[in-house]
Amino acid sequence: MDFTQILNYQNLDRELYNIERQIRSNENKRKAEEMHESMRAAQEKSLQLEKKAGVLLADIEKMKKQFQIQQDKINEFMSKDLSKMSSAEIAKLTTLKDKLSQNLVILDKNLTALAENINAVLAEFNKTIKTFNSAKAQYNASKTAYEKDVESVESKKDELAKKLAVLAKTVDSKLMDAYQKRRHENIFPVIVPLRNNSCGGCHIELPYANISKLESEGILSCEHCRRIIYKD
Ligand SMILES: [Zn+2]
Repeated sequence: MDFTQILNYQNLDRELYNIERQIRSNENKRKAEEMHESMRAAQEKSLQLEKKAGVLLADIEKMKKQFQIQQDKINEFMSKDLSKMSSAEIAKLTTLKDKLSQNLVILDKNLTALAENINAVLAEFNKTIKTFNSAKAQYNASKTAYEKDVESVESKKDELAKKLAVLAKTVDSKLMDAYQKRRHENIFPVIVPLRNNSCGGCHIELPYANISKLESEGILSCEHCRRIIYKD
């Protein structure tokens, strides 16, 4: 079996593989993905804060109502004519008035605490919006830069693809199919020589039975890395 043609093909394909690899590990792409994740996290955070603010606002409304109820009770108390009451009734009313005053103080404190909580949530919300906007700007810039990087290698890729298509015709079609199948799974190099009874790709030693199979058939698929092993 002659492997000259497929090896020529692979040599040229290496250039294409390297370009593809560079694009996959492109720094701008990585940055864009990172910023996209930041945007998503900021969005999630703002939703959580919105929910939190909703709960706090509902609490404030509840408290305002309680405040009003206590206030009404005090007003009612103030409007009573004490001169017509027995001392026992007055004592009862005085106790009630003290309790109502205490309730008002507690409610006032709770309202202040709630207002502080709401302010904290609002501040966090503003921070989250800033984070989102900054991530979005960086995402857009990185995405544009990445697209430019992709575009800059497009013509080289086309040129290589055309040359590869010509070379592919010189290779045995079954061998080419086996090559392309592995190549699409990002295995590279696809075709490797036998080296000291080991696979030239993953360097794992082949069992004797596989070596004799390789001797008789001229070719073998590595059981470990699936590369095509040939004997040169
Ligand atoms: Zn291998």
